[in-house]
Amino acid sequence: MSYAEVSVNSPIAQRRTFSYSIPQGLDVKAGQAVWVPFGDKTLQGIVLELTDYAAVEETRDIIGTIDPLPLLSPAHILLARWISNYYLSPLFDAVALMLPPGFERRTLTYISLTGRGYDPATLTQQQRYVLQLADQQDSVSLRQLEKALGKKNAQTVVSQLVGRGLVARSHSLERDRIGPKQVPYLRLTVTPDEARQARLSMGRATKQAALLEFLVERQVPVPLSEVRQQLNISRAVINILQKKGLVIIEQVEVRRHPFIPQGTAPSHTLHLTPAQETAFRAIRSSLTAPNRTYPEVFLLHGVTGSGKTEVYLQALAETVRRGKRGIVLVPEIALTPQTIERFAARFPNRVAVLHSRLSPGEQYDEWQAIRNGQFDVVIGPRSALFAPQPDLGLIVIDEEHEWTYKQQEQSPRYHVRDTAIKLAELTGATAVLGSATPDVETFHRAQQDDYVLLRLPERVTPDGSASLPRVEIIDLREELKAGNRSIFSVALSEAIERVLANGEQAILFLNRRGGATSIQCRNCGFVLACQRCETPLSYHLTEDILVCHQCNRRAQVPRTCPRCTSRRIKFLGLGTQRLEREASLAFPDARLLRWDSDVTRRKQSHQEILDRFRNHEADILIGTQMVAKGLDLPSITLVGVVNADTGLNLPDFRAGERTFQLLCQVAGRAGRGTVPGQVIIQTYAPEHYAVQAAAGHDYDLFYETEIAYRRQLRNPPFTQLAGLTYIHTNDAACWREAKHMERRILEERDARGIAGLSLIGPAPAFIHRLRGRFRWQIILRGSELSDFLAQIPIPQGWTVDVDPVGL
Ligand code: ADP
Ligand code: ZN
Ligand code: ZN
Repeated sequence: MSYAEVSVNSPIAQRRTFSYSIPQGLDVKAGQAVWVPFGDKTLQGIVLELTDYAAVEETRDIIGTIDPLPLLSPAHILLARWISNYYLSPLFDAVALMLPPGFERRTLTYISLTGRGYDPATLTQQQRYVLQLADQQDSVSLRQLEKALGKKNAQTVVSQLVGRGLVARSHSLERDRIGPKQVPYLRLTVTPDEARQARLSMGRATKQAALLEFLVERQVPVPLSEVRQQLNISRAVINILQKKGLVIIEQVEVRRHPFIPQGTAPSHTLHLTPAQETAFRAIRSSLTAPNRTYPEVFLLHGVTGSGKTEVYLQALAETVRRGKRGIVLVPEIALTPQTIERFAARFPNRVAVLHSRLSPGEQYDEWQAIRNGQFDVVIGPRSALFAPQPDLGLIVIDEEHEWTYKQQEQSPRYHVRDTAIKLAELTGATAVLGSATPDVETFHRAQQDDYVLLRLPERVTPDGSASLPRVEIIDLREELKAGNRSIFSVALSEAIERVLANGEQAILFLNRRGGATSIQCRNCGFVLACQRCETPLSYHLTEDILVCHQCNRRAQVPRTCPRCTSRRIKFLGLGTQRLEREASLAFPDARLLRWDSDVTRRKQSHQEILDRFRNHEADILIGTQMVAKGLDLPSITLVGVVNADTGLNLPDFRAGERTFQLLCQVAGRAGRGTVPGQVIIQTYAPEHYAVQAAAGHDYDLFYETEIAYRRQLRNPPFTQLAGLTYIHTNDAACWREAKHMERRILEERDARGIAGLSLIGPAPAFIHRLRGRFRWQIILRGSELSDFLAQIPIPQGWTVDVDPVGL
């Protein structure tokens, strides 16, 4: 084949490939990274297809290959095309998901002499300088020239010289400059017997003796830091033994796995409960089915603590037994260390944990190691789906309902659940979606038999079966009527006192950080808002400052109302900081710990907070939705939801679903040990179906109510949505462009006679103004919207979001 269809790394390329001819003698494969001429530039591209004929009459030659091996597998090429078509994203954005980390940054351009003669008098001083350098060094990197001459200038001078045929550009990938990490280890230099001999002669030097004993017992070299921590010995002790020739310190290369704690003990397969066994068998039979042509998707619906993770682990083990590999997706690595540990413990040294905290060099190494088949299991956030895991047999998506599985901030705006199902179809892998509170759309598909529904209705605990915690709903309006003005109802106060008296632990959950939500003038009603975003500012108690939760702008608290100068300014609502203060006043003896993004941004990491609570250094953990995620601690016997309504009044048709999911999740943190758990939900809307269903641990009640609303209001899954947002600094211009787009869409719809397609808007987006830029939005409601929108030219400045979450 003599032509290649290439996805080019240029914003102009959009959803298209470009045809290039393959020069004689160049071996090019599909999936390979190449340099191609594009206008007057040389750009990176990925070959997506080899063809006998070009799509256009005149083609230019591929310049050369970047990497000898293909970077994308055939399945990944098809997946990238699908993402681009379905989510209407530039093709290269989709391709880039699958490239090694840092691929785009890691390309270098070099300049070398062509050998053509020239007259120095006709050249500028800078041109002569470049030629001189290129001559001295054989070839000089563009980066070096940019440092010397300035970025723009260097590129101009080089272009001039290329134009005169005096120098040529060449390109190569930057080689890894980051070496493996070295860590000091302590090792015995004598046999265990000799060490025991030496120990006997030590007499009163007990620290030295203890160290020798420790090393004999461990048999293998031990990291120096671990030795010092475990034995609490000084460096001097080690030095003495080293002088005596008994031990030596060696530098050992280590691969860093920040989320797999050193010394995680291997875990063993558990004996499955009957419900787990049924689920496992169903998945196993899918794994052994010969070459299916359709994706087999399972929805594993099990209440919190019902043993879903054990089913994933055994399904993965089965996958590995069949010579295949797996990918496991989790919503957020930092919030689920306990889950990660369980995978690492079951497949020691066979798990790759992908995380952005790895350095670029480490990420790149990890990618290569995965491609070489070094790991049975790759685990990570949504981007881990695109790891080059060979022989993929199983994809697990834990907590499949989580919104972090949709990429919202940048193109491609893909949902990893649907993308994973596509990848399963392309590779013949099996997909398992797990959740205690499945997404309504997912559950609906299972009801339609698109997915196979597997259920784990009961909790499992090591000592038999523990029931789900008892949930009590407290009507805050009644508390107020009875004269209780505290933010803690009588029932919640009593429950907290009991936990403290028994030495147990409690969680107080409030899905809003800061002190008060907003500050309002009692005289004129003016609400202090961010000048750039129009969002009400939140009061942060500890710093005594107002913060915009959209753009993080900070402002002083005014003494008087900016509009009417009244001094009657009042704090409204409640956030985690204020909750912490109220709790410290109400329960002065309790040790409190707060966990929200304000705390983790400043100094403490998630892991640190989690460890402190795990070690019982605090009695009450106060937090936002972070506390609802991966905590599995037997000593938590009480969960108090301080205000269940924070999310109910948002202008989003998924507000009820979101509230239900969060309440179930946080309630699931209670009563994982032998003491039965208790949950108290405080609310102003006790009759709301989301609150009622969460209190009864009743997914079916929630689903039946929710799906009826969706059907009635023609919301997904009964229709499909797509959001189009236009962003501009001028509000009026923004609105005009949105009106223009509205007309274009309606014309196209009518010209093609499409029924059942309606528009909402143009309307200001939920966050109308963000960082000084205005946003207008059009929402399409219909079906097969990707195909429809593909026909409409969408100008610069618009973003398209197919199947948006959170409107
Ligand atoms: P889920 O993932 O559904 O929240 P987990 O897998 O975390 O549930 O299981 C909850 C607890 O039950 C864990 O401590 C786990 O080790 C234990 N467990 C799960 N399956 C079994 C089993 N078959 N036998 C004994 N203990 C089990
Ligand atoms: Zn006022
Ligand atoms: Zn702002």
